[in-house]
Amino acid sequence: MEKLAIHGGNPAKTVPYTYGKRFGDAELANLKEALEQNTLFYWSGNMTKRLCKKFAELYGEKYCVATSSGTASIHVALGALGIGPGDEVITSPITDKGSIIGILYQNAIPVFADLDPHTYNMTPQSIEEKITERTKAIVVVHLAGNAAEIDEIVRIAKKHNVYVIEDCAQTYCCEYKGKYVGTWGDIGCFSLNDFKHISAGDGGLVLINGDNEELYHKAFMFADKNYNRFGEELVKNVPSLAPNYRMNELTAAVGLAQLDKVVDICKKRNIYGDRLTEALKDIPGISVHKVLDGCKCSYWFYMLRINPDEFTVSRTELSKACNAEGTYASDGYIRIPVYLEDMFKNRTAYLGGTEYPFDGTHGRYIEYKEGDCPVAEEILKTCMNVSVDEFFTEQDFEETVKGLKKVFTYYHK
Ligand SMILES: *Cc1c(COP(=O)(O)O)cnc(C)c1O
Repeated sequence: MEKLAIHGGNPAKTVPYTYGKRFGDAELANLKEALEQNTLFYWSGNMTKRLCKKFAELYGEKYCVATSSGTASIHVALGALGIGPGDEVITSPITDKGSIIGILYQNAIPVFADLDPHTYNMTPQSIEEKITERTKAIVVVHLAGNAAEIDEIVRIAKKHNVYVIEDCAQTYCCEYKGKYVGTWGDIGCFSLNDFKHISAGDGGLVLINGDNEELYHKAFMFADKNYNRFGEELVKNVPSLAPNYRMNELTAAVGLAQLDKVVDICKKRNIYGDRLTEALKDIPGISVHKVLDGCKCSYWFYMLRINPDEFTVSRTELSKACNAEGTYASDGYIRIPVYLEDMFKNRTAYLGGTEYPFDGTHGRYIEYKEGDCPVAEEILKTCMNVSVDEFFTEQDFEETVKGLKKVFTYYHK
């Protein structure tokens, strides 16, 4: 067996990973154009309008609303759909806080569904089990560029008269059964933060599905203080509370240029991710990142799982050995399921010593505890993230595979 780099052997990775330039002349030209408009306000300028139009076209939809973040997009979707105090919203325990924040700001109650052990996405069955008469919406997280079983989830949602919001912050241009995720439910939400497939620094997009002008107006207004700009004059006397989540023209200028790159970025990640699966699938002791039949995953990250019983060292030590090979690896994505974080465990979502909205005010006392979603908990104890990137060269790919194989084989019992 080849000597590991961590033991003084030659590292599998002989050159550093290739990092390409994410921003260039196109972004710069758009920024200049935005500034020359002499306004950076979305309603007066053209950049935000163009961004929304282009994004809606890319997805084959009619309406899109731009916001200040992915978190804002999900909050806007909830607000537009009328989610309010005491409503239950089902979502995933393995996700970014952005999936949850809007739910709580609407005084609604997050309920967590369990996941498929290998796609790491919410299962239709677990969602259906969590539906009560108070459930109003499902925020379906398509994790890491990978589609949840969204056709089945939408079917269940329709049966129970529940809205579907798709959280696509990590999942641009992911085709499922010939149709992009983000277009299956009522609303699709996207993020332009700096760590996603494409970046405008921060920013978000709300995709309204179907030809639903009324829902579009509601989302548009909810992202802008509920001001109504659709009549003859601006109406500032609002019927209910909404935040200011407006996008500005500089953000839109960068986002617009980034949209030209997103299909290509996702395609490359799809190719390298699938090839990684092909290369790793027969290594004993690990299971690869599963993609559903009919899905083209855009791998925002690649997450495999180990069977700890089959290795002589811990997951952290496996990661360390991979990193010594120059092959990036880490102990997965988040450390604990969202519902075990302090604000849920200690029931302190809001300041001032209240346990609202978990306290039964709305008729159901809610507790979050270990064991709520056993599969999600198991995933987080055994997952490892490894590198996949649109800037990969053939050498980056081959040396990544070599390093991972070396380490997993060496430490396998
Ligand atoms: C990044 C992310 C968000 C939030 O997006 P921001 O732009 O950071 O607010 C929401 N959901 C998921 C799944 C994410 O990965």
